[in-house]
Amino acid sequence: MDNKQTINFGAGPAKLPQSVLLKAQKELLNYNGTGISILEMSHRSSDFSKIINTTENLVRELLNVPENYKVLFLQGGGSGQFSAVPLNLIGLKEDRCADYLVTGTWSAKAAREAEKYGKVTVIHPKLDSYNNIPDRSTWSLNPSASYVYYCCNETVDGVEFNFIPDTKEVVLVSDMSSNFLSRPVDVSKFGLIFAGAQKNVGCAGVTVVIVREDLLGRALKECPIILDYQVQAGNNSLYNTPPCFSIYIMGLVLEWIRNNGGADAMEQLNKQKAAIINDIINHSNGFYSCPVDAVYRSRMNIPFRIGKKEGDEDLEMQFLDGALALGMICLKGHRSVGGIRVSLYNAVTVEDAKTLATYMGQFLRDHQ
Ligand code: PLP
Repeated sequence: MDNKQTINFGAGPAKLPQSVLLKAQKELLNYNGTGISILEMSHRSSDFSKIINTTENLVRELLNVPENYKVLFLQGGGSGQFSAVPLNLIGLKEDRCADYLVTGTWSAKAAREAEKYGKVTVIHPKLDSYNNIPDRSTWSLNPSASYVYYCCNETVDGVEFNFIPDTKEVVLVSDMSSNFLSRPVDVSKFGLIFAGAQKNVGCAGVTVVIVREDLLGRALKECPIILDYQVQAGNNSLYNTPPCFSIYIMGLVLEWIRNNGGADAMEQLNKQKAAIINDIINHSNGFYSCPVDAVYRSRMNIPFRIGKKEGDEDLEMQFLDGALALGMICLKGHRSVGGIRVSLYNAVTVEDAKTLATYMGQFLRDHQ
Protein backbone atom coordinates (compact mmCIF):
# COMPACT_ATOMS: atom_id res chain seq x y z
CA MET A 1 0.00 0.00 0.00
CA ASP A 2 1.47 3.38 -0.84
CA ASN A 3 2.23 5.72 1.97
CA LYS A 4 -0.51 8.22 1.22
CA GLN A 5 -3.29 5.76 1.93
CA THR A 6 -1.85 4.57 5.22
CA ILE A 7 -3.10 6.24 8.36
CA ASN A 8 -0.82 5.66 11.32
CA PHE A 9 -2.65 5.75 14.66
CA GLY A 10 0.41 4.43 16.51
CA ALA A 11 1.28 5.45 20.06
CA GLY A 12 4.86 6.26 19.20
CA PRO A 13 7.01 6.52 17.26
CA ALA A 14 4.07 8.07 15.54
CA LYS A 15 2.87 9.84 12.45
CA LEU A 16 4.89 12.86 11.30
CA PRO A 17 3.52 15.66 9.12
CA GLN A 18 3.97 14.75 5.45
CA SER A 19 5.53 18.15 4.71
CA VAL A 20 8.20 17.52 7.35
CA LEU A 21 9.10 14.17 5.82
CA LEU A 22 9.26 15.68 2.36
CA LYS A 23 11.53 18.49 3.53
CA ALA A 24 13.81 16.03 5.34
CA GLN A 25 13.90 13.90 2.20
CA LYS A 26 14.79 16.88 0.05
CA GLU A 27 17.58 17.95 2.40
CA LEU A 28 18.84 14.48 3.19
CA LEU A 29 21.76 14.28 0.78
CA ASN A 30 22.84 17.90 0.71
CA TYR A 31 21.86 20.07 3.65
CA ASN A 32 21.66 23.73 2.83
CA GLY A 33 24.34 23.59 0.13
CA THR A 34 26.92 22.04 2.47
CA GLY A 35 27.35 19.05 0.14
CA ILE A 36 26.80 16.65 3.05
CA SER A 37 23.89 15.21 4.97
CA ILE A 38 23.03 16.20 8.53
CA LEU A 39 23.67 12.53 9.24
CA GLU A 40 27.33 13.18 8.39
CA MET A 41 27.70 16.61 9.93
CA SER A 42 29.82 17.55 12.93
CA HIS A 43 27.80 18.57 15.94
CA ARG A 44 30.37 21.34 16.42
CA SER A 45 29.79 22.81 12.95
CA SER A 46 28.18 26.21 12.47
CA ASP A 47 25.36 24.60 10.46
CA PHE A 48 24.45 22.28 13.31
CA SER A 49 24.76 25.12 15.84
CA LYS A 50 22.12 26.95 13.84
CA ILE A 51 19.88 23.87 13.83
CA ILE A 52 20.05 23.30 17.59
CA ASN A 53 19.66 27.01 18.38
CA THR A 54 16.66 27.34 16.06
CA THR A 55 15.06 24.26 17.61
CA GLU A 56 15.58 25.66 21.10
CA ASN A 57 14.17 29.04 20.08
CA LEU A 58 11.08 27.35 18.65
CA VAL A 59 10.47 25.46 21.92
CA ARG A 60 10.83 28.76 23.77
CA GLU A 61 8.51 30.61 21.42
CA LEU A 62 5.80 27.96 21.20
CA LEU A 63 5.58 27.49 24.97
CA ASN A 64 6.53 30.99 26.09
CA VAL A 65 9.35 29.50 28.12
CA PRO A 66 10.48 32.06 30.71
CA GLU A 67 14.07 33.35 30.57
CA ASN A 68 15.09 31.55 33.76
CA TYR A 69 14.60 28.10 32.21
CA LYS A 70 17.08 26.02 30.23
CA VAL A 71 15.97 23.93 27.27
CA LEU A 72 18.02 20.75 26.86
CA PHE A 73 18.07 18.05 24.19
CA LEU A 74 19.11 14.77 25.75
CA GLN A 75 19.32 11.07 24.95
CA GLY A 76 17.99 8.07 26.85
CA GLY A 77 14.31 8.71 26.11
CA GLY A 78 11.59 9.29 28.66
CA SER A 79 12.98 6.30 30.55
CA GLY A 80 16.35 8.04 30.85
CA GLN A 81 14.52 10.90 32.55
CA PHE A 82 12.93 8.49 35.04
CA SER A 83 16.51 8.18 36.34
CA ALA A 84 17.75 11.70 35.56
CA VAL A 85 14.97 13.42 37.51
CA PRO A 86 15.76 11.81 40.88
CA LEU A 87 19.51 11.86 40.20
CA ASN A 88 19.35 15.63 39.70
CA LEU A 89 16.54 16.67 41.99
CA ILE A 90 15.98 14.28 44.88
CA GLY A 91 18.91 15.84 46.71
CA LEU A 92 17.32 19.31 46.62
CA LYS A 93 16.36 18.76 50.26
CA GLU A 94 18.26 16.82 52.87
CA ASP A 95 15.60 14.15 53.41
CA ARG A 96 15.88 12.92 49.82
CA CYS A 97 12.12 12.29 49.49
CA ALA A 98 9.91 12.72 46.48
CA ASP A 99 6.14 12.49 46.04
CA TYR A 100 4.81 10.63 43.00
CA LEU A 101 1.29 10.76 41.66
CA VAL A 102 0.91 7.32 40.14
CA THR A 103 -1.94 7.41 37.64
CA GLY A 104 -0.75 4.89 35.06
CA THR A 105 1.91 2.63 33.68
CA TRP A 106 4.53 5.33 33.03
CA SER A 107 4.33 7.16 36.34
CA ALA A 108 4.44 3.77 38.10
CA LYS A 109 7.68 2.98 36.23
CA ALA A 110 9.13 6.39 37.04
CA ALA A 111 8.34 5.93 40.75
CA ARG A 112 10.01 2.50 40.80
CA GLU A 113 13.15 3.93 39.23
CA ALA A 114 13.28 6.87 41.65
CA GLU A 115 13.19 4.48 44.61
CA LYS A 116 16.81 3.64 43.83
CA TYR A 117 17.86 7.14 44.84
CA GLY A 118 15.69 8.17 47.76
CA LYS A 119 12.38 7.75 49.54
CA VAL A 120 9.42 7.76 47.20
CA THR A 121 5.86 8.22 48.40
CA VAL A 122 2.76 7.71 46.31
CA ILE A 123 0.65 10.62 47.45
CA HIS A 124 -2.81 9.18 46.99
CA PRO A 125 -4.44 5.81 47.76
CA LYS A 126 -3.24 2.94 45.58
CA LEU A 127 -5.30 2.51 42.42
CA ASP A 128 -6.56 -0.93 41.36
CA SER A 129 -6.77 0.19 37.77
CA TYR A 130 -5.67 3.29 35.96
CA ASN A 131 -8.79 5.00 34.73
CA ASN A 132 -9.05 8.03 36.94
CA ILE A 133 -7.15 10.70 38.81
CA PRO A 134 -7.83 10.38 42.53
CA ASP A 135 -9.67 13.30 44.03
CA ARG A 136 -7.32 16.01 45.27
CA SER A 137 -8.78 15.79 48.78
CA THR A 138 -7.17 12.32 49.05
CA TRP A 139 -3.65 13.52 48.27
CA SER A 140 -1.29 14.01 51.16
CA LEU A 141 1.58 16.06 49.87
CA ASN A 142 4.75 16.17 51.92
CA PRO A 143 5.96 19.78 52.27
CA SER A 144 9.53 18.55 52.76
CA ALA A 145 9.59 16.52 49.55
CA SER A 146 12.26 17.59 47.08
CA TYR A 147 9.71 17.46 44.26
CA VAL A 148 6.28 16.21 43.23
CA TYR A 149 6.19 14.14 40.04
CA TYR A 150 3.33 13.28 37.71
CA CYS A 151 2.77 12.03 34.18
CA CYS A 152 0.58 14.54 32.38
CA ASN A 153 -0.71 11.99 29.87
CA GLU A 154 -0.58 8.27 30.49
CA THR A 155 -0.06 6.89 27.00
CA VAL A 156 -0.94 3.27 27.79
CA ASP A 157 -3.99 3.88 29.96
CA GLY A 158 -5.36 7.03 28.31
CA VAL A 159 -5.55 9.16 31.45
CA GLU A 160 -4.68 12.84 31.02
CA PHE A 161 -4.47 15.63 33.61
CA ASN A 162 -6.71 18.56 32.73
CA PHE A 163 -5.23 20.66 35.52
CA ILE A 164 -1.81 21.48 36.94
CA PRO A 165 -1.42 20.08 40.46
CA ASP A 166 -0.92 22.77 43.08
CA THR A 167 2.12 21.73 45.12
CA LYS A 168 2.58 25.02 46.97
CA GLU A 169 6.31 25.59 47.40
CA VAL A 170 7.39 22.12 46.32
CA VAL A 171 9.02 21.77 42.88
CA LEU A 172 6.68 20.26 40.30
CA VAL A 173 7.99 17.82 37.68
CA SER A 174 6.00 16.46 34.76
CA ASP A 175 6.47 13.80 32.11
CA MET A 176 4.75 15.29 29.06
CA SER A 177 6.11 12.74 26.60
CA SER A 178 2.76 12.04 25.02
CA ASN A 179 1.03 15.42 25.16
CA PHE A 180 3.89 17.89 24.76
CA LEU A 181 2.80 20.81 22.58
CA SER A 182 -0.61 19.24 22.04
CA ARG A 183 -1.94 22.17 24.06
CA PRO A 184 -0.50 25.30 25.68
CA VAL A 185 1.06 24.93 29.12
CA ASP A 186 2.18 27.46 31.70
CA VAL A 187 5.83 26.47 32.04
CA SER A 188 6.35 28.83 34.98
CA LYS A 189 4.32 26.48 37.19
CA PHE A 190 6.94 23.74 36.79
CA GLY A 191 10.45 23.07 38.01
CA LEU A 192 10.94 20.64 35.16
CA ILE A 193 9.09 19.26 32.15
CA PHE A 194 10.41 16.51 29.93
CA ALA A 195 9.13 14.85 26.78
CA GLY A 196 10.41 12.26 24.35
CA ALA A 197 10.00 13.64 20.84
CA GLN A 198 8.59 10.60 19.09
CA LYS A 199 4.89 11.32 19.60
CA ASN A 200 4.01 14.98 19.04
CA VAL A 201 7.24 16.71 18.13
CA GLY A 202 9.52 14.49 16.13
CA CYS A 203 11.19 11.12 15.98
CA ALA A 204 12.83 8.89 18.56
CA GLY A 205 16.30 9.69 19.84
CA VAL A 206 15.87 13.04 21.53
CA THR A 207 14.14 14.05 24.74
CA VAL A 208 13.48 17.70 25.44
CA VAL A 209 13.96 18.86 29.04
CA ILE A 210 12.84 22.29 30.22
CA VAL A 211 14.32 22.98 33.63
CA ARG A 212 14.37 26.00 35.93
CA GLU A 213 17.88 27.34 36.35
CA ASP A 214 17.89 27.38 40.15
CA LEU A 215 17.48 23.57 40.14
CA LEU A 216 20.77 23.00 38.35
CA GLY A 217 23.93 21.94 40.14
CA ARG A 218 22.25 19.78 42.78
CA ALA A 219 22.81 16.35 41.25
CA LEU A 220 23.80 13.38 43.40
CA LYS A 221 27.48 12.52 43.05
CA GLU A 222 26.61 9.21 41.39
CA CYS A 223 24.69 10.98 38.60
CA PRO A 224 26.17 9.94 35.21
CA ILE A 225 27.67 13.02 33.65
CA ILE A 226 25.53 12.86 30.50
CA LEU A 227 22.37 12.98 32.66
CA ASP A 228 23.61 15.92 34.72
CA TYR A 229 21.42 18.87 33.76
CA GLN A 230 23.99 21.45 34.82
CA VAL A 231 26.69 19.88 32.67
CA GLN A 232 24.38 19.63 29.67
CA ALA A 233 23.08 23.18 30.18
CA GLY A 234 26.63 24.51 30.46
CA ASN A 235 27.43 22.87 27.12
CA ASN A 236 24.29 23.83 25.19
CA SER A 237 23.35 20.09 25.15
CA LEU A 238 26.64 19.37 23.39
CA TYR A 239 28.64 17.83 26.23
CA ASN A 240 28.79 14.72 24.09
CA THR A 241 27.58 13.96 20.56
CA PRO A 242 23.86 14.70 20.54
CA PRO A 243 21.23 12.97 18.39
CA CYS A 244 21.77 15.50 15.60
CA PHE A 245 19.25 14.17 13.10
CA SER A 246 16.50 13.81 15.70
CA ILE A 247 17.08 17.40 16.83
CA TYR A 248 16.86 18.55 13.21
CA ILE A 249 13.58 16.67 12.72
CA MET A 250 12.21 18.18 15.93
CA GLY A 251 13.08 21.62 14.57
CA LEU A 252 11.12 20.90 11.39
CA VAL A 253 8.09 19.65 13.34
CA LEU A 254 8.15 22.70 15.62
CA GLU A 255 8.30 24.95 12.58
CA TRP A 256 5.28 23.08 11.21
CA ILE A 257 3.44 23.60 14.53
CA ARG A 258 4.26 27.30 14.43
CA ASN A 259 3.14 27.64 10.82
CA ASN A 260 -0.11 25.91 11.72
CA GLY A 261 -1.06 28.25 14.55
CA GLY A 262 1.05 27.03 17.48
CA ALA A 263 -0.03 25.26 20.66
CA ASP A 264 -3.47 26.92 20.73
CA ALA A 265 -4.32 25.68 17.26
CA MET A 266 -3.00 22.19 18.07
CA GLU A 267 -5.26 22.13 21.10
CA GLN A 268 -8.34 23.02 19.07
CA LEU A 269 -7.60 20.32 16.51
CA ASN A 270 -6.81 17.74 19.19
CA LYS A 271 -10.09 18.48 20.97
CA GLN A 272 -11.94 18.06 17.70
CA LYS A 273 -10.26 14.75 16.83
CA ALA A 274 -10.83 13.29 20.30
CA ALA A 275 -14.48 14.38 20.21
CA ILE A 276 -15.00 12.60 16.88
CA ILE A 277 -13.81 9.28 18.35
CA ASN A 278 -15.41 9.74 21.78
CA ASP A 279 -18.70 10.55 20.14
CA ILE A 280 -18.86 7.15 18.47
CA ILE A 281 -17.81 5.39 21.70
CA ASN A 282 -20.35 7.28 23.80
CA HIS A 283 -23.21 6.61 21.40
CA SER A 284 -22.54 2.94 20.79
CA ASN A 285 -24.75 1.59 23.58
CA GLY A 286 -21.75 0.00 25.22
CA PHE A 287 -20.53 -1.77 22.06
CA TYR A 288 -17.39 0.34 22.35
CA SER A 289 -16.35 1.01 25.93
CA CYS A 290 -13.58 3.23 27.20
CA PRO A 291 -12.70 2.51 30.83
CA VAL A 292 -11.39 6.01 31.53
CA ASP A 293 -13.49 8.52 33.47
CA ALA A 294 -14.81 11.00 30.88
CA VAL A 295 -13.26 13.98 32.71
CA TYR A 296 -9.76 12.56 32.50
CA ARG A 297 -10.02 10.84 29.14
CA SER A 298 -6.91 11.63 27.14
CA ARG A 299 -7.15 13.62 23.93
CA MET A 300 -4.04 11.87 22.72
CA ASN A 301 -4.60 8.18 23.41
CA ILE A 302 -8.07 6.67 23.59
CA PRO A 303 -8.16 3.02 24.68
CA PHE A 304 -11.37 1.06 24.23
CA ARG A 305 -12.77 -2.45 24.22
CA ILE A 306 -15.26 -3.91 21.78
CA GLY A 307 -18.34 -6.06 22.33
CA LYS A 308 -18.27 -6.23 26.10
CA LYS A 309 -16.57 -4.32 28.92
CA GLU A 310 -13.68 -6.73 29.24
CA GLY A 311 -13.45 -7.01 25.44
CA ASP A 312 -14.47 -9.67 22.96
CA GLU A 313 -11.06 -10.58 21.59
CA ASP A 314 -12.39 -12.20 18.41
CA LEU A 315 -14.38 -9.11 17.57
CA GLU A 316 -11.38 -6.90 18.38
CA MET A 317 -9.23 -8.95 16.03
CA GLN A 318 -11.84 -8.54 13.29
CA PHE A 319 -11.89 -4.80 13.97
CA LEU A 320 -8.11 -4.56 13.61
CA ASP A 321 -8.08 -6.69 10.46
CA GLY A 322 -10.83 -4.57 8.89
CA ALA A 323 -9.00 -1.36 9.81
CA LEU A 324 -5.78 -2.68 8.33
CA ALA A 325 -7.52 -3.55 5.08
CA LEU A 326 -8.51 0.11 4.88
CA GLY A 327 -4.97 1.28 5.59
CA MET A 328 -5.47 2.19 9.26
CA ILE A 329 -2.53 0.79 11.22
CA CYS A 330 -1.23 0.49 14.79
CA LEU A 331 -4.62 0.46 16.50
CA LYS A 332 -3.87 -2.49 18.78
CA GLY A 333 -3.98 -1.62 22.47
CA HIS A 334 -0.83 -1.83 24.57
CA ARG A 335 0.00 -5.46 25.37
CA SER A 336 -0.59 -4.82 29.09
CA VAL A 337 -4.21 -3.67 28.63
CA GLY A 338 -5.31 -5.27 25.35
CA GLY A 339 -8.18 -4.02 23.21
CA ILE A 340 -7.81 -1.06 20.91
CA ARG A 341 -5.96 2.23 21.34
CA VAL A 342 -6.29 5.21 19.04
CA SER A 343 -3.46 7.74 19.23
CA LEU A 344 -4.32 11.16 17.91
CA TYR A 345 -1.10 13.14 18.10
CA ASN A 346 -0.59 16.48 16.39
CA ALA A 347 0.20 15.07 12.94
CA VAL A 348 -2.98 12.97 12.81
CA THR A 349 -5.53 15.03 10.91
CA VAL A 350 -9.22 15.64 11.54
CA GLU A 351 -9.79 13.78 8.27
CA ASP A 352 -7.87 10.78 9.63
CA ALA A 353 -10.06 10.78 12.76
CA LYS A 354 -13.20 11.02 10.61
CA THR A 355 -12.06 8.09 8.46
CA LEU A 356 -11.64 5.98 11.58
CA ALA A 357 -14.95 7.14 13.02
CA THR A 358 -16.74 6.18 9.81
CA TYR A 359 -15.19 2.73 10.00
CA MET A 360 -16.13 2.41 13.69
CA GLY A 361 -19.72 3.37 12.82
CA GLN A 362 -19.88 0.76 10.08
CA PHE A 363 -18.32 -1.93 12.27
CA LEU A 364 -20.86 -1.16 14.98
CA ARG A 365 -23.79 -1.50 12.55
CA ASP A 366 -22.38 -4.76 11.20
CA HIS A 367 -21.74 -6.42 14.55
CA GLN A 368 -24.00 -5.23 17.30
N1 PLP B 1 6.66 8.47 29.37
C1 PLP B 1 5.58 8.33 28.60
C2 PLP B 1 4.34 9.09 28.94
C3 PLP B 1 5.60 7.47 27.50
O1 PLP B 1 4.52 7.33 26.73
C4 PLP B 1 6.79 6.75 27.22
C5 PLP B 1 6.86 5.84 26.06
O2 PLP B 1 5.95 5.62 25.33
C6 PLP B 1 7.88 6.93 28.06
C7 PLP B 1 7.79 7.80 29.12
C8 PLP B 1 9.15 6.17 27.83
O3 PLP B 1 9.78 6.71 26.74
P1 PLP B 1 11.05 6.02 26.04
O4 PLP B 1 10.57 4.78 25.39
O5 PLP B 1 11.50 7.08 25.08
O6 PLP B 1 12.04 5.76 27.10
